[in-house]
Amino acid sequence: MSVKKVLITKQGKKFYAKNLDGDLHTQYGFIKKEDLKKAKEGSLLKSNTSKEFFIFSPFFIDLYRKIKRDAQIIPLKDIGLIIAEAGINKESKVLDAGSGSGALACFLASIAKEVATYEIREDFIEIVKSNLEFLGLKNVKIRNKDIYKEIEDKNIDAIILDVPEPWLAIENCSKALKPGGFLVSYSPSVPQVIDFVNAARKNESFVYLKTIEIIEREWEVEERRVRPKSKGIGHSGFLSFARKVQ
Ligand code: SAH
Repeated sequence: MSVKKVLITKQGKKFYAKNLDGDLHTQYGFIKKEDLKKAKEGSLLKSNTSKEFFIFSPFFIDLYRKIKRDAQIIPLKDIGLIIAEAGINKESKVLDAGSGSGALACFLASIAKEVATYEIREDFIEIVKSNLEFLGLKNVKIRNKDIYKEIEDKNIDAIILDVPEPWLAIENCSKALKPGGFLVSYSPSVPQVIDFVNAARKNESFVYLKTIEIIEREWEVEERRVRPKSKGIGHSGFLSFARKVQ
């Protein structure tokens, strides 16, 4: 699968043209392949029913929203906080486990220098590979390993755990992280937070920093009718942060 062009209506509804060799069918009629092919970036196209669409080439985030998802992926609100709190940037070597569909690994790979992603299930590894290829990311090493048993990577700036029993990986993470490196654990439920934070506090290699839940509330802004949307995204997970000190 590929995405060649993004089309967006004035109301913000998005459509993706997977190839330019066929007409693009939408709920607002279809756009002829000739129009798709010759359209300039940012130009306005019309469907057969005269609905207007702007057209442009996909950005990373447009493609990211189209990746295959199987396991529950980390939502963008939480990815944003992980990146900001751990200061992940183009110099960073980061690691995550488990890969799941590789959503977090892919996002991190788009901004970091190198990513290693650990996953025990081979069927998920196939999904990760196809998502990496779809996004054109080449800086990710996939490790078919149990993070509770072994981490082969060293000198890591940040590790993000999204596994059922993150406390079982703390000792291995301590060996893999640089002094000053961040250990982040993402867990949906409170008992997981308790066991992870207690274990991190007991471990002399780590200083526990904080646990955060991000609650996102989108607002409807329609002329003077301005209010929170009635349907929001529900609870995702808690993020606990620790820093490796020795
Ligand atoms: N963060 C991922 C989703 C992870 S889902 C994303 O954004 O897409 C959790 C994954 O952890 C599952 O795929 C599961 O197979 C994997 N997993 C569970 N225990 C593990 C372990 N001990 N080592 C490595 N991966 C593990």
